[in-house]
Amino acid sequence: MVRLLEVSKLTKRYSQGNIIDRTVFTAVDHISFDINEAEVFTLAGESGCGKTTTAKLILGFEEATSGEIRHNGKVQTRNEKPWLTESVQAIFQDPFSTFNPMRRVDSYFHETVQNFRLAQSKQEATARIDKKLRLVGLTYQEIAGRYPSEFSGGQLQRISIARALVTDPKVIIADEPVSMVDASLRMSIVNLFKQLRDELGVSILYITHDLATAYYVSDRIAIMFRGKIVEMGSVDQVLMKPKHPYSKLLRDSIPQADPRQRWTTTVTLAELEQEEYLRQGCRFAGRCPDVMDICKSVAPADIRVDEALVQCHLYADQNDRQTAASYSMKTQP
Ligand code: SF4
Repeated sequence: MVRLLEVSKLTKRYSQGNIIDRTVFTAVDHISFDINEAEVFTLAGESGCGKTTTAKLILGFEEATSGEIRHNGKVQTRNEKPWLTESVQAIFQDPFSTFNPMRRVDSYFHETVQNFRLAQSKQEATARIDKKLRLVGLTYQEIAGRYPSEFSGGQLQRISIARALVTDPKVIIADEPVSMVDASLRMSIVNLFKQLRDELGVSILYITHDLATAYYVSDRIAIMFRGKIVEMGSVDQVLMKPKHPYSKLLRDSIPQADPRQRWTTTVTLAELEQEEYLRQGCRFAGRCPDVMDICKSVAPADIRVDEALVQCHLYADQNDRQTAASYSMKTQP
């Protein structure tokens, strides 16, 4: 199994306020995961959970406070910008903001071909672009000379996927790629991800708050809550038999009977709550139905439960809980 992307203890802190009244919060908190060849790995969670910040760190748009990212075994250095390389490409939420309204969309394709020296002639470039467009159900003729406003949101998102494919990337990072697309077109785009995985061996980091499409397209999934991965495993393990109380809450907020057919709603929970980010102990303690005393003072560690990793004291050994609680009492001021 080839590991294309390895994220280890990745952390990003931001500070807010002025020198007198300054708050530091950890938007991404020691998260670790990896993505294998020809795999769809999903980061899921409500708005403000840190999943988009994680994508920005991996793409090099932002610098991590600590932790390590490896692409194909090679450590990503501070100055490296993976989004400028052939092997990692990105697809963003709003296809209309991806393209300049005053610029013809075919020019983006030709620019990418030129930047990466992927063709010897204009004819060869056009053939390459046409091949990628056909993978998403379009042709070069259909886009040539046209501006972004001449396409629907769904078509434009397909065009941005084709553009990402021009360099034959090994990994595509797709940040909420279907959230601004009509419900009727959503499945066609996630089906396209499956097709890219199965036919071209492309790996996809799919970032979403929509568990319906996540369940449909993913091999493995990590649930994020307030900067932490609270549960990670195969999509069947995590969404059909969730262990963490937050994963259960997410799962229960969508219809359950015959989920492959009926999961059409998206999850909408509370907006980012700074209070939860700053909470000592488990960040979910304020709304967890199973909260215990220890949860309010000690942050839970990763525990393997069946085939999943879960961050929750419910699954810790009784002795481990007592040791952690007494250690926390000793170290508190
Ligand atoms: Fe709930 Fe405690 Fe588990 Fe956090 S650690 S999810 S508060 S039981």
